[in-house]
Amino acid sequence: MCKFFRRGFSAAVLLVMVLSMLVLPQGSAEAGKAPVHELNYFKSYETEVEGQKAYRIEIGMDRDGLEYQVVAKTFVRKQLVLDMKNTQPGKLKKDIKLSSSVAKRLTINELERRHTQVVIDLGSIVTDDMYKVHEEKADHKAGKPYRLVVDIFSEPLNQGETFKGVKGRTVVIDPGHGGSDSGAVGPTGLAEKTATLAVSKKVKSLLEASGARVVMTRDRDVDVYGPNASDRQELQARVNVGEYAPGANIFVSIHCNAFSNPAAKGMETYYFPGSARGQQLATYIYDELLKDGGLAGRGVRTANFYVIKHSSMPATLLELAFITNPREEKLLGDDKYQNTLAKAIVRGISRYFGD
Ligand SMILES: [Zn+2]
Repeated sequence: MCKFFRRGFSAAVLLVMVLSMLVLPQGSAEAGKAPVHELNYFKSYETEVEGQKAYRIEIGMDRDGLEYQVVAKTFVRKQLVLDMKNTQPGKLKKDIKLSSSVAKRLTINELERRHTQVVIDLGSIVTDDMYKVHEEKADHKAGKPYRLVVDIFSEPLNQGETFKGVKGRTVVIDPGHGGSDSGAVGPTGLAEKTATLAVSKKVKSLLEASGARVVMTRDRDVDVYGPNASDRQELQARVNVGEYAPGANIFVSIHCNAFSNPAAKGMETYYFPGSARGQQLATYIYDELLKDGGLAGRGVRTANFYVIKHSSMPATLLELAFITNPREEKLLGDDKYQNTLAKAIVRGISRYFGD
């Protein structure tokens, strides 16, 4: 069972809450004082989230600043429960049949006055990486109110495969570029920073599902050092993430290649010259990428790239494909292919650790 909290206060609401807690004795910040949310919008549809197929449920309400928690009941009942404070069922139907293999039914229960639970009956057991819940601001143009968005994914990324070698290891993943630095951009506009992050997140999920600890230099579209940094500052910031991660075993930097000639193609991996273990790591991952990724192999190479030069742990830099090659750009943006790459990378890492 997994239980975690997410709070959706706006800064102003939070400030008011904190102030009222300071001013009022405990227990007197009654629900009666807080604004009540009324559920009045429902929508569900198939979509793609970060390249993964998902079934999306949107539950809208008349005001923002919802306080809620998500509880996954993964055993007998297989349910996702959205527990909402200061909320009452509005004009929504209390029982909605869902047309998806991953989510069967949605019920709205008012547990007590201004305390409502939305319960989603699931098609199968979910693990942590199989659902996401976030808030969306009202979009008046699209006729959408402030809403809670639930994405349920159809299958775990690893499909039951475990990678024994990575258990208990700490892996630093460095998704190349990000924020103000797009990296290379493909002919139809796919940015390297987007592709590297998508693959890195999948690598992270697979590693964690197999018992590894993962430290990401970035987990969203940001500069690691900050905007307007020098290249050296930015790259050193990435190295630092690894250096300061307790017990970090390896550093894996994920990039896409680029060239002026769109015919340039293929995959390669790099290590810093003289690093025997870096070479091993780069070789294992290369072999798996070559086997499963199916792109032209350009070899395991050495280079003085900053992040592999300055990391004190065994490090490798991967060039997954040429984003400037139309065919490879398409592959890099494809969810299934990203899964294939992620699995190959994790298999290579697992082999490096002796599995
Ligand atoms: Zn790059």
